[in-house]
Amino acid sequence: MIDNNDREVKRREARKRWSDKNPNYSREWALKNKEKTRKYLQDYRAKNLERIREISRLSAQAWRKKYPDKSKQGALEYYYKNVEKIRLRRRVGAQELKKNLLTHYGNAEYACVTCGESRSACLSLDHINNNGYLGRKENGLSGTRLYQYLKANNYPKGFQTLCMNCQFIKREECREKPLKQLPSLIELANGNCKIPNIY
Ligand SMILES: [Zn+2]
Repeated sequence: MIDNNDREVKRREARKRWSDKNPNYSREWALKNKEKTRKYLQDYRAKNLERIREISRLSAQAWRKKYPDKSKQGALEYYYKNVEKIRLRRRVGAQELKKNLLTHYGNAEYACVTCGESRSACLSLDHINNNGYLGRKENGLSGTRLYQYLKANNYPKGFQTLCMNCQFIKREECREKPLKQLPSLIELANGNCKIPNIY
Protein backbone atom coordinates (compact mmCIF):
# COMPACT_ATOMS: atom_id res chain seq x y z
CA MET A 1 0.00 0.00 0.00
CA ILE A 2 1.26 3.44 -0.91
CA ASP A 3 0.67 5.98 1.82
CA ASN A 4 -0.62 9.46 1.19
CA ASN A 5 2.77 11.10 1.51
CA ASP A 6 4.23 8.91 -1.22
CA ARG A 7 1.26 9.64 -3.41
CA GLU A 8 1.63 13.40 -2.86
CA VAL A 9 5.36 13.23 -3.63
CA LYS A 10 4.68 11.30 -6.83
CA ARG A 11 2.00 13.76 -7.87
CA ARG A 12 4.34 16.66 -7.27
CA GLU A 13 7.08 14.99 -9.32
CA ALA A 14 4.67 14.30 -12.16
CA ARG A 15 3.49 17.93 -12.10
CA LYS A 16 7.09 19.10 -12.20
CA ARG A 17 7.96 16.82 -15.14
CA TRP A 18 4.91 18.10 -16.98
CA SER A 19 5.69 21.76 -16.33
CA ASP A 20 9.33 21.22 -17.36
CA LYS A 21 8.04 19.94 -20.68
CA ASN A 22 5.57 22.80 -21.04
CA PRO A 23 7.44 25.73 -19.46
CA ASN A 24 5.18 28.48 -20.80
CA TYR A 25 1.83 26.85 -20.22
CA SER A 26 0.89 28.59 -16.95
CA ARG A 27 2.01 31.98 -18.18
CA GLU A 28 0.04 31.63 -21.41
CA TRP A 29 -3.00 30.36 -19.57
CA ALA A 30 -2.83 33.34 -17.20
CA LEU A 31 -2.54 35.75 -20.14
CA LYS A 32 -5.54 34.16 -21.85
CA ASN A 33 -7.60 34.17 -18.65
CA LYS A 34 -6.71 37.51 -17.15
CA GLU A 35 -9.98 37.99 -15.33
CA LYS A 36 -9.92 34.51 -13.73
CA THR A 37 -6.27 34.93 -12.75
CA ARG A 38 -6.92 38.31 -11.19
CA LYS A 39 -9.85 36.94 -9.21
CA TYR A 40 -7.87 33.90 -8.09
CA LEU A 41 -4.95 36.04 -6.88
CA GLN A 42 -7.29 38.45 -5.16
CA ASP A 43 -9.08 35.64 -3.30
CA TYR A 44 -5.82 33.96 -2.41
CA ARG A 45 -4.49 37.21 -1.00
CA ALA A 46 -7.63 37.89 1.00
CA LYS A 47 -7.60 34.39 2.47
CA ASN A 48 -3.90 34.42 3.35
CA LEU A 49 -3.38 38.07 4.19
CA GLU A 50 -1.81 37.53 7.61
CA ARG A 51 0.53 34.85 6.28
CA ILE A 52 1.56 36.94 3.27
CA ARG A 53 2.27 39.95 5.45
CA GLU A 54 4.31 37.86 7.86
CA ILE A 55 6.35 36.32 5.02
CA SER A 56 7.10 39.67 3.41
CA ARG A 57 7.96 41.20 6.78
CA LEU A 58 10.41 38.39 7.50
CA SER A 59 11.99 38.42 4.06
CA ALA A 60 12.41 42.21 4.19
CA GLN A 61 14.01 41.84 7.59
CA ALA A 62 16.38 39.15 6.29
CA TRP A 63 17.27 41.30 3.30
CA ARG A 64 18.06 44.31 5.49
CA LYS A 65 20.28 42.11 7.66
CA LYS A 66 22.09 40.68 4.64
CA TYR A 67 22.66 44.04 2.93
CA PRO A 68 22.85 46.64 5.71
CA ASP A 69 24.57 49.24 3.51
CA LYS A 70 22.15 48.88 0.62
CA SER A 71 19.32 48.96 3.09
CA LYS A 72 20.49 52.18 4.71
CA GLN A 73 21.17 53.74 1.33
CA GLY A 74 17.76 52.65 0.07
CA ALA A 75 16.02 54.09 3.11
CA LEU A 76 17.83 57.40 2.63
CA GLU A 77 16.99 57.55 -1.07
CA TYR A 78 13.38 56.72 -0.32
CA TYR A 79 13.29 59.45 2.32
CA TYR A 80 14.69 62.15 0.03
CA LYS A 81 12.44 61.12 -2.84
CA ASN A 82 9.31 61.07 -0.69
CA VAL A 83 10.11 63.64 1.93
CA GLU A 84 6.87 65.58 1.46
CA LYS A 85 4.76 62.44 1.58
CA ILE A 86 6.55 61.10 4.64
CA ARG A 87 6.23 64.38 6.52
CA LEU A 88 2.55 64.60 5.69
CA ARG A 89 1.99 61.01 6.82
CA ARG A 90 3.79 61.68 10.08
CA ARG A 91 1.83 64.87 10.67
CA VAL A 92 -1.50 63.19 9.98
CA GLY A 93 -0.50 60.22 12.16
CA ALA A 94 0.52 62.53 14.99
CA GLN A 95 -2.73 64.48 14.72
CA GLU A 96 -4.75 61.29 14.81
CA LEU A 97 -2.82 60.04 17.81
CA LYS A 98 -3.36 63.34 19.63
CA LYS A 99 -7.07 63.26 18.86
CA ASN A 100 -7.54 59.68 20.06
CA LEU A 101 -5.46 60.19 23.18
CA LEU A 102 -6.99 63.50 24.22
CA THR A 103 -10.45 62.07 23.58
CA HIS A 104 -9.62 59.26 25.99
CA TYR A 105 -8.33 61.68 28.64
CA GLY A 106 -11.20 64.07 27.93
CA ASN A 107 -13.73 61.49 29.14
CA ALA A 108 -14.71 60.44 25.62
CA GLU A 109 -14.87 64.04 24.32
CA TYR A 110 -12.17 65.73 22.27
CA ALA A 111 -12.42 68.76 24.52
CA CYS A 112 -11.09 70.40 27.67
CA VAL A 113 -12.54 68.61 30.72
CA THR A 114 -12.93 71.92 32.56
CA CYS A 115 -14.42 74.37 30.09
CA GLY A 116 -15.33 72.24 27.07
CA GLU A 117 -13.04 74.10 24.65
CA SER A 118 -12.74 71.83 21.61
CA ARG A 119 -10.42 73.63 19.18
CA SER A 120 -7.63 71.17 18.48
CA ALA A 121 -4.78 73.67 18.45
CA CYS A 122 -5.21 74.70 22.07
CA LEU A 123 -5.91 71.27 23.57
CA SER A 124 -3.15 69.56 25.51
CA LEU A 125 -2.48 66.83 27.98
CA ASP A 126 -2.28 67.85 31.62
CA HIS A 127 -0.39 65.88 34.26
CA ILE A 128 -3.00 65.94 36.99
CA ASN A 129 -0.52 66.08 39.86
CA ASN A 130 1.78 68.53 38.07
CA ASN A 131 4.73 66.18 37.62
CA GLY A 132 5.14 66.76 33.91
CA TYR A 133 8.54 68.30 34.50
CA LEU A 134 9.71 65.18 36.34
CA GLY A 135 8.35 62.89 33.64
CA ARG A 136 10.15 64.81 30.93
CA LYS A 137 13.37 64.77 32.90
CA GLU A 138 13.20 61.03 33.56
CA ASN A 139 11.97 59.67 30.26
CA GLY A 140 12.62 62.47 27.81
CA LEU A 141 8.96 62.22 26.93
CA SER A 142 6.81 65.08 25.74
CA GLY A 143 4.43 65.82 22.90
CA THR A 144 3.94 63.04 20.37
CA ARG A 145 6.46 60.77 22.09
CA LEU A 146 4.57 61.03 25.35
CA TYR A 147 1.30 60.31 23.52
CA GLN A 148 2.86 57.22 21.90
CA TYR A 149 4.16 56.08 25.27
CA LEU A 150 0.78 56.45 26.96
CA LYS A 151 -1.02 54.62 24.18
CA ALA A 152 1.50 51.77 24.26
CA ASN A 153 1.09 51.56 28.04
CA ASN A 154 -2.67 51.27 27.88
CA TYR A 155 -3.59 54.82 28.94
CA PRO A 156 -2.35 55.01 32.55
CA LYS A 157 -4.22 57.22 34.98
CA GLY A 158 -2.97 60.64 36.08
CA PHE A 159 -3.71 62.68 32.97
CA GLN A 160 -6.54 64.82 31.69
CA THR A 161 -7.27 66.92 28.63
CA LEU A 162 -7.09 70.66 29.26
CA CYS A 163 -7.05 73.68 26.99
CA MET A 164 -4.09 76.03 27.33
CA ASN A 165 -6.20 78.64 29.14
CA CYS A 166 -7.15 76.14 31.81
CA GLN A 167 -3.52 74.93 31.95
CA PHE A 168 -2.35 78.48 32.68
CA ILE A 169 -5.05 79.04 35.28
CA LYS A 170 -4.20 75.77 37.00
CA ARG A 171 -0.50 76.65 36.94
CA GLU A 172 -1.22 80.03 38.50
CA GLU A 173 -3.41 78.52 41.20
CA CYS A 174 -0.92 75.84 42.08
CA ARG A 175 1.89 78.39 42.19
CA GLU A 176 0.04 80.17 44.98
CA LYS A 177 0.27 77.08 47.15
CA PRO A 178 3.50 76.01 48.84
CA LEU A 179 5.04 73.03 47.06
CA LYS A 180 4.42 70.49 49.82
CA GLN A 181 0.73 71.34 49.73
CA LEU A 182 0.31 70.35 46.09
CA PRO A 183 -2.76 68.18 45.87
CA SER A 184 -2.30 64.44 45.54
CA LEU A 185 -3.68 62.51 42.59
CA ILE A 186 -6.54 61.24 44.70
CA GLU A 187 -7.47 64.70 45.92
CA LEU A 188 -7.48 65.92 42.33
CA ALA A 189 -9.58 63.01 41.18
CA ASN A 190 -12.03 63.86 43.96
CA GLY A 191 -12.19 67.43 42.72
CA ASN A 192 -10.47 69.01 45.72
CA CYS A 193 -8.16 71.15 43.58
CA LYS A 194 -10.78 73.06 41.70
CA ILE A 195 -10.10 74.78 38.43
CA PRO A 196 -12.70 77.50 37.90
CA ASN A 197 -14.92 77.32 34.87
CA ILE A 198 -13.93 80.44 33.02
CA TYR A 199 -16.65 80.44 30.38
ZN1 LIG B 1 -10.39 74.75 29.27
